[in-house]
Amino acid sequence: MKREVVVAAAVTTAATVVGLAVFLRHWRRRSERRWKQVRRILRNLAWCSATTAAKLWDVANELACDMEAGKKDGGNNIRLLVSYLAPLPTGDEKGTYYGINLRGTNFLILRARLQGKNEPVTELHKQEIAIPTAIMANADSTRELCDLIGLELSKFISQHSETDNEAQTRERKLGFTVSYPINEDPASSGIASKWNRLSVDDTVGKELVAEINEAFKKHGVDMRVFAVVNDTVGDLAGGRYYSKETVAAVSLGMGTNVSYIESPEQVLNEPSNPAETVINMEWGNFNSFNLPLTEYDTSLDAESLDPGNRIFEKLISGMYLGEIVRRVLLKMAQEAALFGDSVPPKLTIPYSLRSPDMAAMHQDTSEDYEVVEEKLKEIFDINDSTPMAREIVTEICDIVAERGARLVGAGIVGIVKKMGRVENRKSVITIEGGLYDHYRIFRNYLHSSVWEILGDEHSDNVIIEHSHGGSGAGSIFLAASQTHKNAHS
Ligand code: ADP
Ligand code: MG
Repeated sequence: MKREVVVAAAVTTAATVVGLAVFLRHWRRRSERRWKQVRRILRNLAWCSATTAAKLWDVANELACDMEAGKKDGGNNIRLLVSYLAPLPTGDEKGTYYGINLRGTNFLILRARLQGKNEPVTELHKQEIAIPTAIMANADSTRELCDLIGLELSKFISQHSETDNEAQTRERKLGFTVSYPINEDPASSGIASKWNRLSVDDTVGKELVAEINEAFKKHGVDMRVFAVVNDTVGDLAGGRYYSKETVAAVSLGMGTNVSYIESPEQVLNEPSNPAETVINMEWGNFNSFNLPLTEYDTSLDAESLDPGNRIFEKLISGMYLGEIVRRVLLKMAQEAALFGDSVPPKLTIPYSLRSPDMAAMHQDTSEDYEVVEEKLKEIFDINDSTPMAREIVTEICDIVAERGARLVGAGIVGIVKKMGRVENRKSVITIEGGLYDHYRIFRNYLHSSVWEILGDEHSDNVIIEHSHGGSGAGSIFLAASQTHKNAHS
């Protein structure tokens, strides 16, 4: 009897062991199959996103050609707007200057002191004023908004007037720049969308200038606005104050934009005629067969608010980088069970991964990718990610960021090429914006791509600098060049 029990137990144990072994083998095979699939998707992403130096040259050349063509007939995909026809700073400007930077939901009032000789800005004061929703949402509220700006500016000046002893000496100009947000906050779309394509011969811009000057008069502000321009034009003015070689200003944040000087040589060679033509190029609209697009970009674009438009921006700007990564992760979760048998529901929410979180994961140097683990929990409710899955996440971030940054580098080279300055002149390009400021690896990829595209021989000719004075400060330099010009004319 006893013996029978023992035998039966032994048989059962043997069966269990065999069953477990079969299960384990099956599990291991399935797991290997999934990892192979994950790797396959990753390799394909890397392959389609590749930006060899030759490819980047193709992109640069094509952008340069489009810029050339855009000047003649405007019938291409980038948009060139003549934004400013006036002198830019020489670096000798001295004095206290005021500026306004109008943004989507608020505006900044700025005041700073310049000391000439390319000395840095001092005594910079900024105040942010929220714009009431009723004004933002209404495209016909220009007068109300200008009135608010006039009122707040008069208060701001009275608070700061104690050190301003130049006020009476001449009529002062105020620099006015507009930074418009890209469709993030629907409440801001009314009035911002009205002003988002300002050019010198634009009636909306002229109306704005007239309204602002009217409001200044009403509120006793003894300043005048000369032109309302995109904030990259202000950044360009700031770059020019510090260096005569500054030829373009890039903004790289949520969205992207560039301003550059048309034929800079002409002005530098003829100082008697100092008016410069600044072009605001909507390079976010650039598109080309040479752009390394993936299936994720195609679906992102198709499901976006403006399919077929702003393809370059959708590859390089802060609004989209995280979303591209999310789409790759979703595919891996669906087709290769990257995060287990079921797809985490939050992974299906568009734009839930923002570029600061992407950057944090990408730049995670902890041994077990603790930051990635934390972010996956926080953003997607993924509580049991494996270290291997987390590593894959960082690899995806790397591929997407590298491609975006290197394309920005190609775009910059394209602009310098168009100006004919690659071989024989130094060109300074300033960059501002949250993506460039805070995403270290992105910034490094950008810088090294320019160096790689131009090679040892010419890479010293293109100098990329961080924009001066921070957000909105460009308006101060515009005020300076305008006032200065007036004082001497
Ligand atoms: P914009 O003026 O285009 O609205 P900003 O220049 O203010 O944008 O920069 C904000 C954007 O920069 C954010 O929307 C985000 O895309 C990006 N950004 C901000 N911080 C980081 C970060 N730490 N890492 C990566 N991207 C960032
Ligand atoms: Mg900005």
